[in-house]
Amino acid sequence: MNLTVIDHPLTRHYLTVLRDENTEPEEFRAATRRLAYTLIMEATERVALEQKEITTPLEKTAGYEMPDVVAIAVLRAGLGLLDAVIDLIPQIKVGFAGVQRDEETAQPMEYYFKLPDLSDTHVLILEPMLATGGSLSWACGKAKDSGARDITALCVVAAPEGVKRMYDEHPDVRIVAASLDRGLNDAFYIQPGLGDMGDRLFGTL
Ligand code: URA
Repeated sequence: MNLTVIDHPLTRHYLTVLRDENTEPEEFRAATRRLAYTLIMEATERVALEQKEITTPLEKTAGYEMPDVVAIAVLRAGLGLLDAVIDLIPQIKVGFAGVQRDEETAQPMEYYFKLPDLSDTHVLILEPMLATGGSLSWACGKAKDSGARDITALCVVAAPEGVKRMYDEHPDVRIVAASLDRGLNDAFYIQPGLGDMGDRLFGTL
């Protein structure tokens, strides 16, 4: 299966804050950042570390270093996860994928795309709301065209429709999510979901 749903009390706690319609943008941003830490821990669990010898004040010992990691933030909502990613992996390079959902067809429309070099890197795609899967599948395709071979998607909420599409189109991409929700409504919003993640992060309701 391509999906890992995190079963951790902190993840559930912060997801509840995000789902609550009364949560204001300031608290929403903070809860997103805190929940993101739990996603990143799981998403990087399989990263192969580079080994190096270091010396403690007492003796030599084996040490480990993170390999090259690139994050691709799918605009706008992916920005909500970015602070936590940069905090935990400060050397990370960051790309941006600007994709807008056509409200009638729900198809992704690209308006901005800028990536660092992806060769020999672990790629984390930050796409908090995996709804139809159109944006994430598009971002994965673009990342693969640019040389990405090892991709993990960080999602806050995933819908079964999006997970299935990802499995059909990019079965090699691992998805880490805080929840697998019931499904999409007629406007392609995830139910129960948390509403429009970008609007709630940035107060553009
Ligand atoms: N994007 C969102 O922000 N929310 C949804 O429910 C679906 C897509």
